[in-house]
Amino acid sequence: MVEEDGQSGGCLCGAVRFQVSGPTLWHALCYCESCTRAAGAPVIAWAGFPSAKFEVLAGTLTIYESSPGVRRGFCGRCGTTLTYQKNPAVLPGFQDDVYISTRSLDEPGAYSPDEHVFHGERVTWLEMGGDLPRHETLSPEHAHRQLLGRT
Ligand SMILES: [Zn+2]
Ligand SMILES: [Zn+2]
Repeated sequence: MVEEDGQSGGCLCGAVRFQVSGPTLWHALCYCESCTRAAGAPVIAWAGFPSAKFEVLAGTLTIYESSPGVRRGFCGRCGTTLTYQKNPAVLPGFQDDVYISTRSLDEPGAYSPDEHVFHGERVTWLEMGGDLPRHETLSPEHAHRQLLGRT
């Protein structure tokens, strides 16, 4: 989690533009099969924000529901992976926080990741350096917050 005060971002072709305001709720490198297939890459960084802190400024997110209640947003023109969001109406008890693909931000280096998640699902030849916590699935703190909400 960091305290920077938000920034803009968008897809590769520029059709979709958005802004977020900080701080991040969570920032992780995810290796899970769904995220990496959706991104077409062996790892993707997600920075989480309360849904009220995310605003689309131009264009429209195209949504693909990858499993019931899980909405993945991307640019329908260039295909850039942009967002991940759970729908509490379908998944009771979950937060509707929006995870932004960190690399779609204009200053992706502004937020440092907190941890590696779903490390157990990574492609076998991928080994990242550094000493961030590595979780086989989700960290207990993240799973707890997703389910029980914040105060
Ligand atoms: Zn685009
Ligand atoms: Zn994932």
